[in-house]
Order: sequence, then C-alpha cells, then structure tokens
Amino acid sequence: TALVIAMDGPSGSGKSSASRGVARALGLRYLDTGAMYRAITWWMLHHGVDLTSPAEIAARAAEPELTLGVTPDESSVTVDGADVTAAIRTAAVTAAVSAVSAVPEVRARLVAEQRALIGSGDIVVEGRDIGTVVAPQAPVKVYLTASPEARARRRTAELTGTTVEAQRAAMARRDTLDSTRKADPLVMAADAIELDTTELNLEEVIAEVLRLVKE
Ligand code: C5P
Repeated sequence: TALVIAMDGPSGSGKSSASRGVARALGLRYLDTGAMYRAITWWMLHHGVDLTSPAEIAARAAEPELTLGVTPDESSVTVDGADVTAAIRTAAVTAAVSAVSAVPEVRARLVAEQRALIGSGDIVVEGRDIGTVVAPQAPVKVYLTASPEARARRRTAELTGTTVEAQRAAMARRDTLDSTRKADPLVMAADAIELDTTELNLEEVIAEVLRLVKE
C-alpha cells in the first residue's frame, strides 16, 4: 500500500520546509495543497471576482485551469498557462485566500484534484486537511505546531517590509478564519502525531518525521 505522509498544520509551523526535506530524504513526490488554494485565489483576484460573495466564488470555482509540479525541487504552479509560482506568495493573495478556501465548491474541486495527484503512489502531502479529509487513509500523519511567536518570527524572516507583530496579527486572523469556518474547519486528525517545532531547527524536525515514518 502507498506511503502517504500527511503534513498538516498552520502557517509558520515549519510545514513547507519540513515536507520538502522529508520528500527529498526519502525520494518521494511532494504536493503543496496550499499552493492550489493560493492559485485559485490569485485567479479570482486577477479576474475581479467579488471575494465578499461566496456565491460568486462558487460559480467560478471550476474555471481556472491549474497545473502543479509535484516534486520537492520542482513545485511551480501555473493558472491558465501563466506561471504564478511567485505571484501566489504575495501579501494580497495571502490576505484573500481564507475567503476563497472557505467556499465548499472550491474545496470539493481541489480535494478531488489532490486525490487524483496523490493517486496510488508514495508522496508527502502538505496542507491543513490532509489527514482528516484528503487522505484519511494515510499511514503517517503529522500535525506541526509552534508558538505564535516562533511562527511569526519565521514568517517575518521570509518576507521583506513587515514586522513580527504585524505577522503575528495576520496569522492569528488567518488561523481564526480557517478553523472556525462552516465547511470543513481545519482541525487536527484524531490519529495525527502532534510535533511542536518551537524549539527545533529544520534538521531536527525532518529527523523526527523520518523517525515516525520508520516506526
Ligand atoms: O499553507 P498555506 O499558508 O500556503 O495555505 C494557504 C491557505 O490555503 C490557508 O490559510 C487555508 O485557508 C488554505 N488551505 C486549506 N486547505 C489546505 C491547504 C491550504 O484550506 N489543505
């Protein structure tokens, strides 16, 4: 049976770097599901869709065509043929993504595409609902956490022109939106192993996940 490693957790928990590192160490494919929500959000902004209207988001959810690299070293994203790998990381997309990802039609579409990409092969999948919704059969489920301070510090180091305080506030807002929405609120799977990365460096997080995989 396939080795699916589900890596869930909030932003700044160290999910992306750890997921890539684990995929490299094991020679596995890697799927960033957050990039898919970001790509749809980029398209909605680009097409002037009213993001205060869930009905309008739902009506257009099937339109954008996504492609996605699924290896740790090639995870570029295109929407309708345009390379949006960098554009989906802007503050504008980050601020808008929770409104788009809360719409059930968007989730249904992307969960189906994620399951197709996971297929029957071995893969590391990073997101928020992988262990609960996308791949509840995954034999390894990790839920990464870190203190709000550590998460904000990491995210600030990746960006320019922002402060730890501003990042902490933005993250708290996104966490609340993601975990209190009606459709599929983002929660930890009952059978996931929680890994607090506050005091760990990247190598230590990867080593701990590899240890869980061997068990
Ligand atoms: O992981 P990342 O910060 O790139 O995710 C961006 C947003 O996409 C999250 O804040 C959340 O709203 C949404 N998301 C989701 N389900 C996933 C992955 C991401 O709802 N599996």
